[in-house]
Amino acid sequence: MSEDIPDLVILGSGPAGLTAAIYAARADLSPLLIRGPVPGGQLTTTTDVENFPGFPEGIRGPALMEAMEEQARRFGTRFLEGQVSSVNLKPPVFSLQLEDRRIHCRALIVATGASARMLGLPREKELYGRGVSVCATCDAAFFRNQSVVVVGGGDTALEEATHLARFASKVTVVHRRDALRATPPLQRRAENNERIEFRWNARVREILEDSSGVKGVRLEDVLTGESSVLESTGLFVAIGHVPNSALFKNILEMDDKGYLLSRNHCETNIPGVFAAGDVMDHRFRQAVTSAGNGCMAAMQAQDFLADQ
Ligand code: NAP
Repeated sequence: MSEDIPDLVILGSGPAGLTAAIYAARADLSPLLIRGPVPGGQLTTTTDVENFPGFPEGIRGPALMEAMEEQARRFGTRFLEGQVSSVNLKPPVFSLQLEDRRIHCRALIVATGASARMLGLPREKELYGRGVSVCATCDAAFFRNQSVVVVGGGDTALEEATHLARFASKVTVVHRRDALRATPPLQRRAENNERIEFRWNARVREILEDSSGVKGVRLEDVLTGESSVLESTGLFVAIGHVPNSALFKNILEMDDKGYLLSRNHCETNIPGVFAAGDVMDHRFRQAVTSAGNGCMAAMQAQDFLADQ
């Protein structure tokens, strides 16, 4: 293979991308990994990861990602910063526009992950950083002794609420149903926390603000239609994620929500392009399943390149 065309480019630096890099680098493919807009991926915005095998006491999300990156580097992965703006995936050589550079490769692993979904309320974007947040780990300390709202009923919402309760005086979890989706251990932990309250069957209809930022939310009871105001200086949105697949629209096959479709273990509709992690998995979305996908994608890429 020519020296200036790397065999393999990996897009994304979460558990899927970094595991793919570890396997590909150990197979002497000298992968080039483009870290993307959130280096380390979603785990860098979590607190403790208690279910990644091998860490009986748990491990901090950012520490886990640093360790994976170090391991990928040790075997010769090369890293580039930045965001890819367009791709041309016509075989046999693919090309990617990375800011002002054009990068070529013969195989590509797409591990671009997913991003937090927002409520779609007026002013939600403008108030981002002025009370609206999707990351308690990043922002909880700004809400010491204040009242905050967390929206959602899944694991993320309860993890965020529990973390926020270490700083805030009161955390209200607003959920659109009366039953949580979160796993039992996280439910128990939140329910036993005296600073955490639940507002069931409620939706946030409006964000209230003054010149310093968020001041509260207007809630609507989904059963009665009744409206009420909850004073709060923080609104943490934890209602799931959307896949980061826009770059591949009309190029790679995806479902109606934008998750890349894969077959035969991480293959996409273009031979030589593989998908791994949250960008193709709407069901499990775990660090360990993403890492498993990354491993499979790298081994698939290795076989593909060997056949060329
Ligand atoms: P999720 O499980 O999809 O939960 C999203 C929550 O937001 C649901 O309760 C949903 O309500 C609610 N929701 C969705 N759209 C909404 C809207 N427009 N307005 C109001 N509420 C809305 O997402 P997640 O909590 O981010 O978890 C994703 C995956 O990561 C899961 O597999 C989870 O187990 C995993 N995870 C694991 C950990 C851990 O193990 N420590 C931590 C975080 C995440 P409904 O329930 O009514 O659908």
